[in-house]
Amino acid sequence: GPVLKFNNVKFHYDSNREILKGIDFEVPAGKTIAVVGPSGAGKSTISRLIYRFYDVIEGSVEIDGQDVRDVTQKSLRTAVGMVPQDTVLFNDTIEYNIRYGRPDASDEEVREAARLAQISDFIESLPDGFNTQVGERGLKLSGGEKQRVAIARTILKSPPILILDEATSALDTQTEQEIQSALDAVAQDRTTLVIAHRLSTVVNADEIIVLRDGKIAERGNHEGLLAQD
Ligand code: ADP
Ligand code: ADP
Repeated sequence: GPVLKFNNVKFHYDSNREILKGIDFEVPAGKTIAVVGPSGAGKSTISRLIYRFYDVIEGSVEIDGQDVRDVTQKSLRTAVGMVPQDTVLFNDTIEYNIRYGRPDASDEEVREAARLAQISDFIESLPDGFNTQVGERGLKLSGGEKQRVAIARTILKSPPILILDEATSALDTQTEQEIQSALDAVAQDRTTLVIAHRLSTVVNADEIIVLRDGKIAERGNHEGLLAQD
């Protein structure tokens, strides 16, 4: 069966305005499904429901056939890795932040993840730029650098289910292309949900879901959806 499944999911935040109005989709094992759509459509809300930052109002989210409400936080966090749009880092070294989720990783594995995410130069630093090894203040990490730390963490963790929520949105074009290929390598053969703004960034998805105003407006593959544009 599918590894990740949304069954008629309805959701609203504190105000009663409905954000998701009955969403159905599934991600089969090892496949990549992309959710695209305009800002405010409800894309990130989908990722938050999987990670249980919030719970559905109606319907259900299932992982391996189990309602996420019946899964312990620990096994949910082990099964699912997420690169969020805005990364908040612990006020500890970048190395600590990369290891978060896999403290057992070897130094070599940490260095390799840092290399792929292009943050090798500052793994001894704190998010505010203080370098713990040389005891000097460097540059405060930018949004893009924090995003690369989250990417390194996820590469290291290599979870069975991967959620990439506009995971390279804070990066410049050149860095984005390089890091995207590192992420593609992690996503290969893994159950992956990609959230993106533009259709052009999800060429490799097995299926693309177009979300508009909390509903699935269209679904198909890249060529098919481009043809309708
Ligand atoms: P997208 O990722 O497609 O841009 P989101 O899922 O982030 O959309 O948001 C969908 C809608 O929900 C938006 O209208 C947004 O303003 C609203 N929203 C998002 N987070 C919250 C929140 N914590 N409380 C109330 N409304 C929210
Ligand atoms: P926790 O394991 O503390 O429950 P979550 O798993 O809920 O944290 O958070 C989702 C992801 O967001 C984590 O895997 C981690 O990557 C990141 N994260 C959560 N809280 C923090 C934090 N305070 N500082 C840095 N990163 C965090």
